[in-house]
Amino acid sequence: MSYKAPRGTRDIFGINVLKMNLLELKAREVFKKHGFEEVKTPIFEEASLFTRSIGQATDIVEKEMYIFEDKKGRKLALRPEGTASLARAFVEHRMDISNPVGRFFYIGEMFRYERPQAGRYRQFHQIGAEFYGNSSPTADAEIIVLAKDLLAAIGIDKISVNINSLGCEKCRPFFKEVLVKYFESLHNLCQDCQRRLKTNPLRLLDCKIDSYKFTEIPKISSCLCNSCKDDFHSVQSLLKSIGCAYTVDEKLVRGLDYYTRTIFEICSDMVGSHDAIAAGGRYDNLVKEIGGPNIPAVGFALGSERVLIAAQNIGFFNNFKGPEKIFIAIADQELLNNAFAFAMKIARYGFKGNKDISVFGPVNDKNLTSQLKFADKMQASKTIVFAREEFNKGKLLIKNMKNRTQEEVSISDV
Ligand code: ATP
Ligand code: MG
Repeated sequence: MSYKAPRGTRDIFGINVLKMNLLELKAREVFKKHGFEEVKTPIFEEASLFTRSIGQATDIVEKEMYIFEDKKGRKLALRPEGTASLARAFVEHRMDISNPVGRFFYIGEMFRYERPQAGRYRQFHQIGAEFYGNSSPTADAEIIVLAKDLLAAIGIDKISVNINSLGCEKCRPFFKEVLVKYFESLHNLCQDCQRRLKTNPLRLLDCKIDSYKFTEIPKISSCLCNSCKDDFHSVQSLLKSIGCAYTVDEKLVRGLDYYTRTIFEICSDMVGSHDAIAAGGRYDNLVKEIGGPNIPAVGFALGSERVLIAAQNIGFFNNFKGPEKIFIAIADQELLNNAFAFAMKIARYGFKGNKDISVFGPVNDKNLTSQLKFADKMQASKTIVFAREEFNKGKLLIKNMKNRTQEEVSISDV
């Protein structure tokens, strides 16, 4: 009997886990500068939280959620995204009281039952931010800039930012009506489109099958109410004022129901087939809809795996090695205690001023030759050998494992 990780999941180890950690470290740095605080929410929630907030007629709720019952028959779901969970935590703990303009971020695993392919998994990671209590377009612009800065911190600076406005509860119904009329005038729509025409007509705009048929799509911009128009113009002028290039894409919609007004997507052509690496927008009604106060919000999420694919393709990791590995070997079994004490010392305080090291050894059950082989296998850059003759003179042998040179150094010097 042999086991494999479930379809669509991955074990992340070795250099890949270091890359993911680096991305998360950079994200935490950027978030700190913008005053965003981290929140860790549970990996599972009541299933109805997601059905309610994301919306029944969405891909996530219709086919991608992992839903299960616990022993007491509670219907739970592995979280497919972070916004609903964070909003639930925000409301549950009345975070608005201490933090009326709360800025929060999360980093963690998300679960969606999708057909796995490069950059699309059933368990993947998102890094996301949510900005509550600020209805001003400055909040939208800041969220977009934040996502952009985060990507730039990992070398992804050639991106395109696509934005659109989905209107508000006043003007969107009007746009929906116009859209439905338009789509009904077309023939032979795919099955998904026919179904969504009744449940969620906006979703037809991003149908991959029928999009070529949509030649004269009504423009949402001509249906927006004045307040949504002004708001969208302000977001754009803020982006311009800080030199953030963007494109208005009137066909851009998001796969979740809670969005209102400005939505955006950030794409990189360095990912391959799935070029959206981050996405987000404003959702002014979600907090209220899940039982909280009437508090507007705007946020984004990026997919760590896709971001790392893009960073890799750009060459950001070309010289990325992780910490220097140092192996401690003993040529004389009696020096085990000295070598062990030395290993613990450099692990704590660094080696010759370098604190970014990983220390391995000593092992006392192998001869020196097999210890050196072991050091090679684990790709140590240096092996420090404790040998009797040198040790008695207060010295150690340092072997450079790449060019096979060796030098003697005084123990007191390292
Ligand atoms: P797509 O259209 O590619 O399915 P989405 O609209 O479902 O994306 P969002 O819900 O907006 O994606 O999630 C934000 C980001 O999370 C995406 O831009 C992407 O980078 C990442 N993401 C979404 N689904 C997956 C997945 N199954 N595997 C890996 N990353 C994903
Ligand atoms: Mg999706």
